[in-house]
Amino acid sequence: MGVSEYGWIFPAAVGSELVQLNVGVGVWIDEYNKSKVNIIMLFNEFIQRNQAIKELLSLVVSQQKPQAYPLATAKRANIVSNGKVFKIGDAANITDPLTGEGIANAIVSGLYVTQAINMSTTLDSASENWQHLYQLYFEDDLDAALQIKSFRKFLFINKLLIWFMNRNETFTEQVTYTFVGLIPYKKLFL
Ligand SMILES: Cc1cc2nc3c(=O)[nH]c(=O)nc-3n(C[C@H](O)[C@H](O)[C@H](O)COP(=O)(O)OP(=O)(O)OC[C@H]3O[C@@H](n4cnc5c(N)ncnc54)[C@H](O)[C@@H]3O)c2cc1C
Repeated sequence: MGVSEYGWIFPAAVGSELVQLNVGVGVWIDEYNKSKVNIIMLFNEFIQRNQAIKELLSLVVSQQKPQAYPLATAKRANIVSNGKVFKIGDAANITDPLTGEGIANAIVSGLYVTQAINMSTTLDSASENWQHLYQLYFEDDLDAALQIKSFRKFLFINKLLIWFMNRNETFTEQVTYTFVGLIPYKKLFL
């Protein structure tokens, strides 16, 4: 829907005669706070503008009222363990701040928490070890993604990126692999 908004149509249940769809829009909160647009207005706009939804609308037998939720992504100087609470996945703010993808990090963070517990003899050291493993395996890459996100706010940087990608195949490959998660974001800065 633009640089800072996206829309989706997901099949949520397909087992019966009727198909249930999850339809929604997402927008970065900093962009949202700056704009005068209401999230429900954005959703209605998506429904009216999207050809696939327009076609599906004529077949709809029932519809739920749209609801809005905040979703967490990465943040700097992130603390993932707090006393007895060890956070993982979205709750730990380790969702990719550029793509919103968080399934892989949610699973991997769960594995690192078990490792932190296994390698520790006290609750405090388990807590410290999970924070340490987070810093070792997630922090640099998420910080690099946040850095890229802050650059992408400037239109001329997006234009420059596209200009450069049109001229340099190796760089284009590198950027594409990074955004699909095959190369860490921090490697873009090396
Ligand atoms: C529309 C959309 C599209 C996405 N697309 C992608 C994608 O393509 N690829 C990708 O990698 N990521 C995607 N994500 C992000 C991804 O879904 C999350 O990053 C990921 O699910 C986080 O996993 P999690 O286990 O941390 O949290 P969740 O999957 O949110 O799991 C938390 C669970 O806890 C339950 N829960 C909450 N409170 C309580 C409570 N008090 N008691 C008991 N249970 C509770 C919830 O019901 C939920 O089942 C998408 C997210 C959205 C919203």
